[in-house]
Amino acid sequence: MSNDQTGTEEHDEEQAPVAGLTDDPCFDAVNMLNYYLDQELTETLRLTITRHIESCHGCLKTYEFHTELRTVVRRRSVTRVPAELRERIARELGQ
Ligand SMILES: [Zn+2]
Repeated sequence: MSNDQTGTEEHDEEQAPVAGLTDDPCFDAVNMLNYYLDQELTETLRLTITRHIESCHGCLKTYEFHTELRTVVRRRSVTRVPAELRERIARELGQ
């Protein structure tokens, strides 16, 4: 028996603030929705999200929900989202 201790796993999981694409496109789309709406994404990322939203009904609904939410919030001049609304969003996103 050889006692090879190869316990040097290289797990370099860098957490990029925005460009943290996972292998779950839906997760990515929802995860970056705020950046998307704030237009803080790179063009490549924005295109990726846009393409996904256009092809994924679930994310399109989420996107529309958030767009509407922002409009409402802006209209009411409220910077903070009420807790009740946050809960509803969380439920809508299935979290
Ligand atoms: Zn999706």
